[in-house]
Amino acid sequence: MSAASESELLATVPDRLFIGGEWVSGSGGGSIDVRDPATGAVLKTIADATPADGLAALDAAVAAADSWAATAPRQRGEILRGAFDLLQERRDDVALLMTLEMGKPLAEAAGEVSYGGEFLRWFSEEAVRISGRYGRNPEGTGQMVVSQRPVGPCYLITPWNFPLAMATRKIAPALAAGCTVVVKPAELTPLTTLYVARLLEEAGLPAGVLNVITTSTSGAVSEPIIADPRLRKLSFTGSTPVGRTLMKQAAQNVLRTSMELGGNAPFVVFGDADLDKAVEGALLAKFRNIGQACTAANRFIVHRSVAAEFSRRVAERVGAMRIGRGTEEGVAIGPLIDDRAVDKADELVQDAVSRGATLVAGGHRVDGPGSFYEPTVVTAVPLDSEILREEIFGPVVSVVEFDDEEEAVRLANDTEYGLVSYVFTENLARGQRMIDKLDTGMMGLNVGVLSNAAAPFGGVKQSGLGREGGLEGIHEYLSTKYTLIPNG
Ligand code: NAD
Repeated sequence: MSAASESELLATVPDRLFIGGEWVSGSGGGSIDVRDPATGAVLKTIADATPADGLAALDAAVAAADSWAATAPRQRGEILRGAFDLLQERRDDVALLMTLEMGKPLAEAAGEVSYGGEFLRWFSEEAVRISGRYGRNPEGTGQMVVSQRPVGPCYLITPWNFPLAMATRKIAPALAAGCTVVVKPAELTPLTTLYVARLLEEAGLPAGVLNVITTSTSGAVSEPIIADPRLRKLSFTGSTPVGRTLMKQAAQNVLRTSMELGGNAPFVVFGDADLDKAVEGALLAKFRNIGQACTAANRFIVHRSVAAEFSRRVAERVGAMRIGRGTEEGVAIGPLIDDRAVDKADELVQDAVSRGATLVAGGHRVDGPGSFYEPTVVTAVPLDSEILREEIFGPVVSVVEFDDEEEAVRLANDTEYGLVSYVFTENLARGQRMIDKLDTGMMGLNVGVLSNAAAPFGGVKQSGLGREGGLEGIHEYLSTKYTLIPNG
C-alpha cells in the first residue's frame, strides 16, 4: 500500500469528537497525536476531550434515549445492517486503518473487519427478536407478563488491541436493544472508532444515539460520567486492574456493569493430542495480534511425552516468522503497541530465564524505529516465574510440562483469571472432562481461535462479568420487567 493511499485514507478519518450528531472540537482545545507503532510517526492529530465534553456527550445520549428506545426494532436493525453493508464496501480501508494505528498485519486486520463487522449484522438480526413471556401464575389468579426494556444510556470503554471488534461488540447490541451510548476508545487506537461512528451516521443513525469521545485523560473524563445518576450502564473491556477501579466507581450508583477483563489462558496439550493440530492451534492462539489478545494462550501446559517435539516444532515455525510493519507483504509479527509493551515482554522472558527456563527461540528486542520484539519460545519454565502469573501480551510461548491429567487441570486453573482455555486431545471423554474441570468462560477443543459473533464471549473469576455476542449479548443492555395482571 503506497504512502499516498495511507495519507488519503487518514484524511477521511474524523479528527473531532462526535456529540449529539455533530463533529465538534474539544472544549479544552487540546489534542492527541495518534502514532504508528511500527515507525513512531504521527498518523493523525485528534481532539482531546475534557470532563465537560464527556458530560456533554452524556447529555446528548440522555436527550436521545427515549426516542431511540421507542424506535421500531426493525428500524434499529436496518440501521445496523446498513452500517454492516457500508463496512463491507470499505473493508480494505478499515483494515488498513487498523494496521496503521495498532500494528497488526494487514491480513489479520482484514480478519478483524470480518469478525468485528459480524456484530453489526448479528445484532441487526437480534434487534427484532427481543422477546418476553406471558403465562398464568401457579395459583391461577392472574397473568404474568415478562418483558424486556432497554437499560438506558450506556458508557462503553474499549481497549486498543482490537480497535473495530471491541467497539462493535458493545455498540451493536446496545443500539439493537434500544440504548443510546457514549463510547470512549483507547487513546492509542481511536481512529477506527471514529471511522465507525461516521459509518453509522451515514447509515442513518439519529443524532445523539451514538457519541464518541477521545481523550488522553480517561480517568478524569470517565469518573463524572460514571458518577452521573442519568447513566444506567457501564460496559468495559480492558485490564483487570482498571476494571476493578471502574467497578468501585460504578458501585456508587449501583450501575449495571459488563466487564471483559484480562486473561491468562492455559493451552493444554495431552500426550494423545494430534500434534499437527496442536502446533497450528498454538500459532493461532499465541501469535494472532502479535500475542496482544485477552484470549492469547499464555501458558503452554504440555505432557512430558510430547513436550520436546511440540516445542521443537513451534520454535521451527517461529524462526520462520517475518517481523515488520503490518502493511508489508508476508509479515507475521508486527510491532507491539508501544515500548512499554516491549519492556514488559522482555522482563517476563528474562525473569523466566533467570529462574532456569530454557530459551529456544527469539528472546530479544528488535532495533527501532517502532516497538518490536522477536517471537520467542521458552521451555521448562519454573512454576514460580512471573510469565505464568501475568498476561504476557506479546509474542512469547512459555512451556511447562505435566505428567497426568489431574496435574494438568491443577496447573491450568492455577490463576485468578478465567477467560478461555485451549485443550488438545484426541480422546473425546478426556475432552469432555476438561469442559467440566477447567474454570474458564470459554474453551477451544482442538482449536486455537474460537471467537464468533454468534457465541457468548466472556470470562469467569477475575476475567470479568457478563457476555458479549451470542443470544446473551443483547441482554447486557436489557432489563427484565415483570408485570402481574390479576384475573378480571
Ligand atoms: P486498559 O485497562 O489499560 O485500558 C482499557 C480502556 O480503559 C482504554 O480505553 C483506556 O483508555 C481506559 N482506561 C484506562 N484507565 C481508565 C480509568 N481510570 N477510567 C476509565 N477508563 C480508563 O487496557 P488496554 O491496555 O487498553 O487493553 C489490554 C487489556 O484489555 C488486557 O488486559 C486484555 O486482556 C484486556 N482485554 C480483554 C478483552 C475481553 O474481552 N475480556 C478483550 C480485549 C482486551
